[in-house]
Amino acid sequence: MKFIAGNWKMNGTCDALKTMAEALVNVQTENRIILCVPFTMLGCVKPNGFAIGAQDVSAHDHGAFTGEISAGMLSAIGAQYVIVGHSERRQYHNETNEVVRSKAVTTIKAGLTPIICVGETMDEKQSGKTMEIIESGVRESVPSDITGDVIVAYEPRWAIGAGLTPTTDEITAAHTLIADTLKSMGRAGTPILYGASVKANNAAEIMSIANVDGVLVGGASLKPDDFIPIITSVK
Ligand code: PEP
Repeated sequence: MKFIAGNWKMNGTCDALKTMAEALVNVQTENRIILCVPFTMLGCVKPNGFAIGAQDVSAHDHGAFTGEISAGMLSAIGAQYVIVGHSERRQYHNETNEVVRSKAVTTIKAGLTPIICVGETMDEKQSGKTMEIIESGVRESVPSDITGDVIVAYEPRWAIGAGLTPTTDEITAAHTLIADTLKSMGRAGTPILYGASVKANNAAEIMSIANVDGVLVGGASLKPDDFIPIITSVK
């Protein structure tokens, strides 16, 4: 079983989600399908054969935080997962590992599973800091002093939406480091997803790499014709 998670970013409508939900009903798979959609679409469909997630959450439980959505609110509307620390949140909203960690904690406390993203920028890659950024991202963003499931997603920031992917050796090295780091933090067995420019033509190969427990898919998760072949490319 692999995790196949879609990140719709700021795209789509309830109608598009209904179309996707209708298409997913007919897909025979043992994989765990998760669709992380905009807040406004969370209540649009009753998920059948897939789970619904959000793309961000407040670090606070309730109160005077205008415009924010709490993990409890997400739970109440049926979300089971939340992406936290996506590179676009880190880039456009200055989210640090510390902020990401606090969002992951509030998510776990509400009974949801955070999908915690880590990954290096092109500058960091070119200056030889990939491993350092990945390890500190995991150590500082993933809570280790609270029980509850988490998922980690390795998303090389330079490859997202760019049609670029790291080499098999690079993905292997990143996922091995993440698995070892999680183990040293008492979180052995945490699912580790790969994300960035996953398509139907590379999904199976990427998911055959050691310690790749699934994929986080952006652009190719928006349409059934692109997303379903990714789901069915592995058992
Ligand atoms: C993402 O934004 O999480 C992502 C993986 O995007 P894409 O698949 O479009 O590169």
